[in-house]
Amino acid sequence: MKTIRTRYAPSPTGYLHIGGARTALFNYLFAKHFNGKFIFRLEDTDVARNVEGGEASQLDNLAWLGIIPDESPLNPNNKYGKYRQSEKLDVYHKFVEQLIANGHAYKAYDSSEELAKQHAESEAANVASFRYGANWLKISEEEKNRRDAAHEYSVRLRLPKNVIYKWDDLVRGEIAVNSDEIGDFVILKSDGYPTYNFAVVVDDHQMEISHVLRGEEHITNTPKQLAIYDAFGWETPRFGHLTIITNMEGKKLSKRDKF
Ligand code: GLU
Repeated sequence: MKTIRTRYAPSPTGYLHIGGARTALFNYLFAKHFNGKFIFRLEDTDVARNVEGGEASQLDNLAWLGIIPDESPLNPNNKYGKYRQSEKLDVYHKFVEQLIANGHAYKAYDSSEELAKQHAESEAANVASFRYGANWLKISEEEKNRRDAAHEYSVRLRLPKNVIYKWDDLVRGEIAVNSDEIGDFVILKSDGYPTYNFAVVVDDHQMEISHVLRGEEHITNTPKQLAIYDAFGWETPRFGHLTIITNMEGKKLSKRDKF
């Protein structure tokens, strides 16, 4: 049987909180039950929001709970690449290039004003939810070359038409979403950083994660991630989306809720 590998991948934009601890615990117990490995890695590409001591707080408080990762930035297995996203931007770029080269992704040259205009037009036309129009932007070849040289573009995944992304969720059962409901989405931002959906797929693939157990707020991200797996032709992990923790009123527990 394939080794079970699960992971907990927080952003160091805050300290460990009860929701994160619970996600980590489920992943840890699931891996240990099957004699597998529990991995801790960091999604630290939102540089402006990172807090000092965020990584240490996560690791120290998990250790206090008895949750010790088998692999982490402090205890990496180099075979699986780096355990902090900020240290592997070159890897994401290489994979983005690969998708552009084989036509699964393309450079989108819209400025933020042009994108806002496209949004406004879509809203004015009463379109229920915005889909990026790959042919909306009309600029000269010269202007395109200028933006290209100045790195004024993002990269979007080119989604196939009318493809169903479907998975058998370990918690919720079968979930299916049509590619037409998603639209071409950004995988590399104009600042050169990958988006969450892209980086997480590269990491899960490189680290041979077998089961992704995470909060249900990520359910809408999973079809996008399946589209990226498809574009690469990579095998997908199993997914399970855990219910959120609620307060006494049944609302999502906030960091500000006091007991
Ligand atoms: N950094 C993300 C979060 O904390 C990880 C999501 C995932 O596990 O894919 O929600």
